[in-house]
Amino acid sequence: MSWVTDITHFGGVLDPSSRAPGPAKLIARFFGSIVQAATAWPPGEMIDSAIHCRRKPKRKACAGRIRLVLVEHDESGNPDPDVRILWECPVCKDNGVIRNWKGTDWDLSDVERDDGFWDHETLHLTLSDEEYLALREELAHDRKLLALVIVARSTDVGPMMEMTLGETHRLVEGVFQAMKVGYGKRKRLLEAVMNKLHEVLPGAGPIQ
Ligand SMILES: [Zn+2]
Repeated sequence: MSWVTDITHFGGVLDPSSRAPGPAKLIARFFGSIVQAATAWPPGEMIDSAIHCRRKPKRKACAGRIRLVLVEHDESGNPDPDVRILWECPVCKDNGVIRNWKGTDWDLSDVERDDGFWDHETLHLTLSDEEYLALREELAHDRKLLALVIVARSTDVGPMMEMTLGETHRLVEGVFQAMKVGYGKRKRLLEAVMNKLHEVLPGAGPIQ
């Protein structure tokens, strides 16, 4: 099925005061995360994101992860007036196009990555699906950190984040702050992420 989405139709659906039904909130989160990933990444570059497909064929969750791209130019390289985000699930082939995200809460295009990121001076952090989803929620209020997490790539061993040393240190601080207010399972997931962060940082071992 092909979805044609004007993301502004979901404006306010995720506000705490919203009375939108659960399914509407779920789909707003799904489309919103696609916009976040597409706008946090350079236009024209396809990304195999770690965003889960939302479909449940035969009541079993599709294992696919969403592939997406922001299109600003046509095939000849000329600016395309129809700026849009294309997405698809490589497994079940659910797909769609999203328009009108500019200036919405989901638009992360103004968040800049460290220069070193584009020079591939990066550390790699591999997460479990649960850790990835916990980070996405816990860091949702911090657009700079969310922009790092939402472009995690889907790999055989789980979502993989790629960050500069500086970005990794900022993530450590963000996770540390989230741990202070987290509790229960969420807190344990954050602690597991923190341990992994310490393992990837040069010269540091896991926290004792
Ligand atoms: Zn799927």
